[in-house]
Amino acid sequence: MSSTTGQLSRARITSTAGPVIRCEAAVAWEAGKPLVIEEVEVAPPQKLEVRLKILFTTLCHTDVYFWEAKGQTPLFPRIFGHEAGGSAATVNQKRATCVIFSGSILTGVMLNDGKSRFSKNGQPIYNFLGTSTFSEYTVAHVGSIAKINRAAPLDKVCVLSCGISTGIAACEGARMAGASRIIGVDLNPKRFAEAKKFGLTEFVTPNDHKKPVQEGWGVVVGVPSKDAAFTTHPMNLLTERTLKGAFFGNYKPRSDLPSVVEKYMNKEIEVEKFITHQVPFSEINKAFDYMLKGEAAVAWQAGKPLVIEKVEVAPPQKMEVRLKILFTSLCHTDVYFWEAKGQTPLFPRIFGHEAGGIVESVGEGVTDLQPGDHVLPVFTGECKECRHCKSEESNMCDLLRINTDRGVMLNDGKSRFSKNGQPIYHFLGTSTFSEYTVAHVGSIAKINPAAPLDKVCVLSCGISTGMGAALNVAKPKKGSTVAVFGLGAVGLAACEGARMAGAARIIGVDLNPSRFADAKKFGVTEFVNPKDHKKPVQEVISEMTDGGVDRSIECTGNINAMISAFECVHDGWGVAVLVGVPNKDDTFKTHPVNLLNERTLKGTFFGNYKPRSDLPSVVEKYMNKELEIEKFITHQVSFSEINKAFDYMLKGEGLRCIIRMEG
Ligand code: NAD
Ligand code: ZN
Repeated sequence: MSSTTGQLSRARITSTAGPVIRCEAAVAWEAGKPLVIEEVEVAPPQKLEVRLKILFTTLCHTDVYFWEAKGQTPLFPRIFGHEAGGSAATVNQKRATCVIFSGSILTGVMLNDGKSRFSKNGQPIYNFLGTSTFSEYTVAHVGSIAKINRAAPLDKVCVLSCGISTGIAACEGARMAGASRIIGVDLNPKRFAEAKKFGLTEFVTPNDHKKPVQEGWGVVVGVPSKDAAFTTHPMNLLTERTLKGAFFGNYKPRSDLPSVVEKYMNKEIEVEKFITHQVPFSEINKAFDYMLKGEAAVAWQAGKPLVIEKVEVAPPQKMEVRLKILFTSLCHTDVYFWEAKGQTPLFPRIFGHEAGGIVESVGEGVTDLQPGDHVLPVFTGECKECRHCKSEESNMCDLLRINTDRGVMLNDGKSRFSKNGQPIYHFLGTSTFSEYTVAHVGSIAKINPAAPLDKVCVLSCGISTGMGAALNVAKPKKGSTVAVFGLGAVGLAACEGARMAGAARIIGVDLNPSRFADAKKFGVTEFVNPKDHKKPVQEVISEMTDGGVDRSIECTGNINAMISAFECVHDGWGVAVLVGVPNKDDTFKTHPVNLLNERTLKGTFFGNYKPRSDLPSVVEKYMNKELEIEKFITHQVSFSEINKAFDYMLKGEGLRCIIRMEG
C-alpha cells in the first residue's frame, strides 16, 4: 500500500503531499461500541484533496446517529467527526476550518478514487461526511475546507463548522437579520428560558395546543432517520407555502464560513455559550458518554404530574457511580418534596430514592464497585471514614447523611442531569426515577446478585427503615406492648420488626380505616383510629395499656402524631421513636415533665442501619425467608405510568407500588 501511494505522490509534482502519515484516530469498529484510539495510516491527499491536522473537534448529534446506526445504514469501521478546526498539514500550514459538505454520507470513501484514505494494517477504514475529524490527521476534498482568519481561536470557532452555523443559530441569525418576532417551537417548554438568550421573543409548545403548529415558511434542519417520510397535503403547498430543507444553514462553506468566523471575531455572535465540556482526545468516549441519554420522570413544577423526558446523564465523577435503575418504588418522602407544601421547593427535579439497579460505570477512585454489580442506592450514605461511620451507634455520616435541600453532587456542586443543556436537580443523592442516575459510591450498597431486584428494591428505604426503627432503635422486650403510628409501608415494617422482637401487643394507629384490614398480616393486634375518639389519642392508648405503651414508633410525618406517639409511652421506661419526615417549619412541643418522668424520645433515619455495612445482610434476611417482602408490594406499574403510583399514595391505597423501568 505505501509503495503505491509513494508512486502517486511522485507523479503529482505540484502537490505538497508527503508520505503516509501514521497517527492516532478514534475508530468506531462497531455500531454503538466505544471508539478505540488506534494508530492508523492516513494516505496522502490526492487530486484536489487536502490533508489536515485536526487541532480541535467536537461531537455533534449527527455523529452519534450514525455511530448508533439505528435508523441509518451501518458502515464500519469508520472514523466519525465533522465539526472541527485544524490546519492544512502538508500544504502551507494554513489555518483552515473543515466543514460538512460532500455526498459521502452513505459511501464513506473519497470522490476521487472511491477509496478511503484511512487504513489500519491494510484494512480500509471508512470516512464520514468527507471530514472524519476524530483523527489527528484527515483528508478532505478542498471544496470541503473553509480557510479562515488565522487569528480566530480554533478551540472556539471549531463549533462553527457545523451545529452553530446550522441550528440554534437560526434564532440568533433571525435576530441579526432584524426579525421583530422570532417564534420558537419546541415540545419542551423549559427550552424557552435558554432560547431567550438567542433572541426568541415568543414560544409555542405543540403540546399546549389542540391545533397543529403551522408549517409555513419552515426550514427543516434535523437529519431524519433513514426511513423517515414527510407527508403533507398538497394543498398546503398550493396555498403558497414553501417547503425547504437546509444543510449547514444554506451557508456555502468556503464562501460564507470565513465571514461567520468574522462575526465571532467582531463579537456579533457568541460561541462560548455553546461549549459546555472539554476533554482530551484520549477521552473522546466521554464526549459520547455526555450524550448518554435515558428516560427520566422529571418534576418540572411542584405538585404537577411528572413528565417522561429524554435527559442527558453525565458520566460519574470522582467517587461517583452511574447506575442503570431497573425497579424503583414510591415512598412518601418523594411525595412531600414533590408537593413542596411544607418543604423547600427545588425544580426541575428528578425524585425517587427507593430502588434497585446495576452499576453501569464508575468514576475515578471507585474501587469496591464495578460495572454489573447489583446494588441498592440509599438516601443516606456511609463514607466509612468519618466519626459517625466509625461509631457503632450512628449512621449519620458526616459527608453523606440525608440532605433534602441539596440538588447537586458533592464533587463539583453540579447536577449530572440535563435536558438540552438545562440542569435538572437531584433528590437525596439518588434520583431513581430515571433509567440512569449518578450517585456517590458511599450511597450505594452492593448486594447478593441472586436477590430479585423487583422485590428487594423496597429494602433501600421504607421497609428497612421501619424494621430497623423497631429492631435497632425502639428495641421492645419480649412480651412488651408497642404502638405504631401510621400503617403505611414504613409503619407496617415497624410492626413486623416489633413482632420479630417478640412484642405481645402491637397497637396500630391510623386515620385511614382501610389500613386496618391488611395490618393483621403484619402482626398488629389492636387498632385505634384517632377520629373515633373525642379524647387525644395518647389518652386513649394510655387507658388501653394501664398507663402507656412500652415502646411507640411514629411513621406518619405528622407533627401531632409525633407528639401523641411520645406522650403515649409509659413513664419510668417508655421509649418513643420518630421516623416520619416533618414539614420544614414544624416544632415538637411537649411539657418537660413528660421527659423528667423517665420517658425517652428518639429519632432515626433508615432505622439506624449503616447502608453499605448493614443493608446486604437485610437482603440476606429476605433470601433466608426470615423477612417477607411480597406483602408490602401491592401495585406494579410501568415507568410510563409512574404518575399512577403518586395517585395510589395520595389516596392511601396500598403500600408499595413497584415501578418497572423496562417494559
Ligand atoms: P404512607 O403514606 O404510606 O403511610 C403513612 C400513614 O400514616 C398513612 O396510612 C396515613 O393514613 C397515616 N397518618 C397520617 N397522619 C396520621 C396521623 N396524624 N395519625 C395517624 N396516622 C396518620 O407513608 P410511608 O411511605 O409509609 O412513610 C411514612 C413516613 O415515614 C413518612 O413521613 C415518610 O416521609 C417517612 N420516612 C422516614 C424515613 C426515615 O429514615 N426516617 C424513611 C422513609 C420514610
Ligand atoms: Zn461517614
